[in-house]
Amino acid sequence: MKILIVEDEFALADALRDRLMQEKYEVDIANDGTTGYDMCMTGAYDIIIMDGMLPGKDGIEIIYEMRKAGVTTPVLMLTARSDLMDKLKGLDAGADDYMTKPFEVEELLARLRALIRRNYGKEENVLTVGNLKLDRKNASLVNTGDNQTISLAGKEFKILEYFMDNPGQALTREQISERIWGHDDNVEYNNVEVYVSFIRRKLKFLKANVKIRAVRGVGYRLDVEETAS
Ligand code: CA
Repeated sequence: MKILIVEDEFALADALRDRLMQEKYEVDIANDGTTGYDMCMTGAYDIIIMDGMLPGKDGIEIIYEMRKAGVTTPVLMLTARSDLMDKLKGLDAGADDYMTKPFEVEELLARLRALIRRNYGKEENVLTVGNLKLDRKNASLVNTGDNQTISLAGKEFKILEYFMDNPGQALTREQISERIWGHDDNVEYNNVEVYVSFIRRKLKFLKANVKIRAVRGVGYRLDVEETAS
């Protein structure tokens, strides 16, 4: 797995590289947007970690131009704290995930593993969040406390799988819609709402201690409850 870090803060870039190399990733660094752009366009990397604000060319611009040119390398974008517009612009431009600075390196490693699983098929067959276990092979959802089991229909399964791959992370309606329906312009966002309501009913039926919460102005987030309900 070869990772490119495009980051103009030298200390952060070096610390990330050292940690990633401990995890046996190969790592290259670009310290400005112009160099980063050239390296990204080679398509030679398996994953790109992209800072937002960069000298030369900013991260969003690089991602946008990469995608326009057909370079599909998954991108994890780093954005300044609480800059929601940057996150949304980054996702619109074609970033696959984002993290807000400052972040925990261990969380970044977990996000990278999820990106790798999603893009390179090294998927675990079973996803576990809270008291829920989702079996990807037969689309069954189990309460691990009482072993109550239900099966999920195609899109319900895909949407819940997306949430369980990204627990605690707000997913925009656009992200969900894009992932499940692709670029089909006939899909309206309220399809997402409809499926979320189906899934919520099933979670309730299973007495899951996991809930899909609405995040105002953004979308939804899968959270583990403090106390089971
Ligand atoms: Ca920067």
